[in-house]
Amino acid sequence: MSNQSYTVTAFYKFLEIEESELRSLRSELQRMGYKFKLQGLTLVATEGVNGTVSSSAEGIAQFKEFLQTRFGDITFKDSYCEFRPFKRWLVKIRDEIVAIKDKSIIPDGDRNHLSPEQWHQVLSEEDVVLIDTRNICETDICMFKGAIDPRLNSFGEFPDWVRDSGIPKDKKVLMYCTGGIRCEKALISMQRQGYENVFQLKGGILDYLAEYPEGHWDGECFVFDGRVAVDHQLAPSQRYKFCPHCGDPGDLQAECRICEVAMVICQPCSTHPERNTCSKNCAEKFRRQEAVAGE
Ligand SMILES: [Zn+2]
Ligand SMILES: [Zn+2]
Repeated sequence: MSNQSYTVTAFYKFLEIEESELRSLRSELQRMGYKFKLQGLTLVATEGVNGTVSSSAEGIAQFKEFLQTRFGDITFKDSYCEFRPFKRWLVKIRDEIVAIKDKSIIPDGDRNHLSPEQWHQVLSEEDVVLIDTRNICETDICMFKGAIDPRLNSFGEFPDWVRDSGIPKDKKVLMYCTGGIRCEKALISMQRQGYENVFQLKGGILDYLAEYPEGHWDGECFVFDGRVAVDHQLAPSQRYKFCPHCGDPGDLQAECRICEVAMVICQPCSTHPERNTCSKNCAEKFRRQEAVAGE
């Protein structure tokens, strides 16, 4: 797969960074990005760094080397893409690198992490409570079979959801997300609420798919870039596109009612007549036609 034009890598690391260092760190990362011709987004906060970036295989290799020199050991999740999955290179300073809206929750190592092998085995053999910690537009594409979907609009809603979930505190709980970072905080949030038997999938769905493409994951996985989703081989989705009306992933193929091109929209938008169109522009044309017809 390495002959494909773009390598994409996702990484995060929780480590303490002084507030006063954030701006210079941002400039440093920006410079490295230009040097290695990166596109993508990297977040920095006093709790660490989190990014998904793409470039040539060589550019990514050099950027990884820089990150490991700068921050120590970091694990990367690689995938490949024939088109440029990001438009720009951005480094942003945030309050948190993954926002649970509680800065007192600070992950401190690999506790209660299950490797893809361990995860695979537990799911095959044990009766557990399985929680998907991702947001609605991600869980709607696919989940592990039997997973509970908290229907989160944003990750910050997770602690309240746990409080109201009624999950018995003595149950064995397994949780997962795309790359593992959200669960680092979700796990601590559950432990604080009295759950003692909580485990997360190390490296998330992406690492699981890398080892078990034909395992318990039966569908595609949403990613935060132009690929929309990756399939079980971690290849860019052939099925999902961003809906031109709402921006969520959609897989409904149809023809634009105005300009008749082939298009893909999402299920919810398909129930609005004017959104059976290829673009906001065509939707507006459709509305005007209807208004004239109704006069
Ligand atoms: Zn839509
Ligand atoms: Zn159109």
